[in-house]
Amino acid sequence: MRSQCLVIVASLCLTLFSLPLADAATPDETVLQAGAAISNITPPISLDPVAQSKRPPATHVHDELHARCLVLDDGEVRLALVVCDLRHMSAEVAANAKQLIQSATGIPPESVLISATHTHTSSGARLEEGESESYYDYKAFLARRIAEGVLRSVNQLEPARIGWGVVEEPTQVFNRRWFLMPGRGIIYGAHDNIEHVDTNPGYTGLLRPAGPVDPQITFLSVQSTSGKPIALFASYGLHYVGGIPARTISADYFAIFADRIGELLGVDPNQAPPFVGIMANGTSGDVNNLERYSEEELAKRDPQPKKRYLPYEKACEVAYLCAEKVLQGHLSLQWHDYVKLSSVQRTLTFERRYPTKEEVEWAEAVKAKKIKPMSTSRYSTYSTVLAYASPEMPPTIDVIVQTHRIGDLAIAAMPFEVFAEIGLELKDRSPIQPLMNISIANGSHGYLPTPQQHRLGGYETWIGVNKVQLDASEKMVDSLVEMLDELE
Ligand SMILES: [Zn+2]
Repeated sequence: MRSQCLVIVASLCLTLFSLPLADAATPDETVLQAGAAISNITPPISLDPVAQSKRPPATHVHDELHARCLVLDDGEVRLALVVCDLRHMSAEVAANAKQLIQSATGIPPESVLISATHTHTSSGARLEEGESESYYDYKAFLARRIAEGVLRSVNQLEPARIGWGVVEEPTQVFNRRWFLMPGRGIIYGAHDNIEHVDTNPGYTGLLRPAGPVDPQITFLSVQSTSGKPIALFASYGLHYVGGIPARTISADYFAIFADRIGELLGVDPNQAPPFVGIMANGTSGDVNNLERYSEEELAKRDPQPKKRYLPYEKACEVAYLCAEKVLQGHLSLQWHDYVKLSSVQRTLTFERRYPTKEEVEWAEAVKAKKIKPMSTSRYSTYSTVLAYASPEMPPTIDVIVQTHRIGDLAIAAMPFEVFAEIGLELKDRSPIQPLMNISIANGSHGYLPTPQQHRLGGYETWIGVNKVQLDASEKMVDSLVEMLDELE
């Protein structure tokens, strides 16, 4: 009896001390709680029917964009995971959203992960990058809607169980950087420099890919103690699929997966609160969905007729395959009624990228119209080189990296378009297994190749496309491994 009274007194104290938190639920030290919600973040489309800018805004919405939120609570610590249907996640929006989240829910910024899927059809108006018409402040709207999604997840916290797993879908990921057969000729880079590899080099005359792919889909599944699915959160290292008509807003295969996995798990579409499927981007900086094979491999394969896909058909195909694989893994999931949560965050300061002497000379010669560039790429022009040569540009870039622990699953969050081999190295070195990688998280600072890939060249290594010192990936991986070790 006496010990029961003590328990009651203790839980009353807990209730009192937890009052500053915004939710009504009482944290219980031995019960895991979970809540999930989605917040609509679709930007406005243009009302100007004849908008004729170089990058015209969207005129159609095929499917709405969302911030998909999952909050876990172990009685002491709360963790919020948010994945947005956006091409990039600006560090400013992520920071502002985290401030709102902290004041609304008490969850500190280091326990909030906000990432972008990298859907390339997130905003025909490119609003998240500030290229918008002055209709309204989309960045402020976005931060607010992300915070609302997290608050709604907190408001829906309920006792839950959790499981996680790793499956593979190797047929939909292709490294897009290739060494070419000698017959393909010289590869010119953005500054007419000669490079060793080509990005998206067509489909013939290919020697071998310049890097690996990560075929794993790492996932975690959360359901109520009565077995009602609350959320399924997955990560796959695939850039995006595409095949979406011009000037159309769509969340690409990420959202199709989110719906499909709910169907496969037998979710009642009218359940309350609704189930939330989530697909985050793993490490896919050099990986896309375009099937490319070496000449040697092509010679071994039967000639395949090139299939013409209808809009969204390919995205559906990829999403359905991934969902089937996750379902298979889900069948043998081990459920946990309680897991411990913890997070470690660091701010890493990188030197920014500086152009070489040769690049500056090339850029000045182009500017003075002394030479005409061979490369027609719009990504790394003479003006980009001169901007990076300017002392006006800040000498360093601060980036946020995070590690999170959910029982024996760990998450590493990185704010770049990270090459697959970097994610694979992290998975290999992680003291906690399995490891889920999430890129374009808490900010977006361009591509992140390894120093070796920088030496090979190719689009992702160009200045402006890549913004940080050439060995940034090594520093980031070493830090993340230390931070995985620090997780309690
Ligand atoms: Zn990209």
